Amino acid sequence: MAQIIDGNRIAARVIEEAAGRSRDFLGKHGRVPGLAVILVGEDPASSVYVRMKIRDCARCGIESFSYTLPEKTITGELLDLVGALNRDDRVDGLLVQLPLPAHIDTRRILDAIDPAKDVDGFHPANVGRLVRGDKYALLPCTPSGVLRILDDSGVDPKGMRAVVVGRSDLVGKPAALLLLNRHATVTICHSRTRDLPQICRTADILVAAVGKPFLIQEDWVREGVVIIDIGINSIGPDDAPRSLLEDPKRVADFERKGYTLVGDVSPAAAVKASLITPVPGGVGPMTRALLMENTLKAAEWRKNPPEVPK
Ligand code: NDP
Repeated sequence: MAQIIDGNRIAARVIEEAAGRSRDFLGKHGRVPGLAVILVGEDPASSVYVRMKIRDCARCGIESFSYTLPEKTITGELLDLVGALNRDDRVDGLLVQLPLPAHIDTRRILDAIDPAKDVDGFHPANVGRLVRGDKYALLPCTPSGVLRILDDSGVDPKGMRAVVVGRSDLVGKPAALLLLNRHATVTICHSRTRDLPQICRTADILVAAVGKPFLIQEDWVREGVVIIDIGINSIGPDDAPRSLLEDPKRVADFERKGYTLVGDVSPAAAVKASLITPVPGGVGPMTRALLMENTLKAAEWRKNPPEVPK
């Protein structure tokens, strides 16, 4: 039976450490660290994520600056706000909640964020530092959360075969690079990969970052694999396998909300793992906690720039 990794427990510790560092920062610099969050439009999921980020800031003693712009905001207007927040000394971390409305040039916006404040780690300068394996980089929160989970669970990726399913710039690719930097032998899979089940079966560590409920089937994984399920999918009772319909928490979800959240890994595959992250309660809370840690890093490095080797 797989051991279930408690992402909430690990995340609570990261949040506690961030709160301690925030207090130290206040003692040293006479102000608390600051995080600015920009939301464009009224996407309900994005609004919930922003509210959670602001709540996390309060828990960590980080001042939050929240900006909600109308859906019709154009790229130039958003660039102006990003520029102003880049110059605002109270702001140590700056993020623009994605996805942006289709008419906004997302790349231009992400490229305009000061890399020193880029707590999402999406600016090309930070992506370059990730590729080089630099110590002083602001790294994307979800993939960093994955590595923190492995560390906390005593899994050293060195020499292990890691298969990452999903190659997005925000999740799959950086997760693969972090595993590579930690000396795993990494295979990246995507929608055009041939023989996906066969490749997944080679994995010692399988990272699923797709967004397709139960894509990873029982016969795609070998006994004892470590599974990190990043996917977040909402399903109704008609799409739920029997094991979920027998789970009182899921039944309560269906009765209350009409849906429940599941990952990319089927329950039958999950039981073959030695360790697995649950959905919800695995990678999700780590993503939130790592944003707080990144804000602390950004604040500390802005005050005392690290000596980066030339
Ligand atoms: P994207 O849609 O950007 O990327 C999905 C990736 O999956 C793509 O690379 C795509 O391939 C690949 N893919 C799609 N279908 C298949 C398939 N049938 N077989 C193999 N690969 C496939 O999603 P994200 O990377 O942003 O997010 C992935 C999941 O992680 C989502 O469920 C999202 O909600 C969740 N997520 C969870 C977070 C957390 O904190 N837990 C944070 C961020 C995301 P191709 O490139 O060829 O199109």
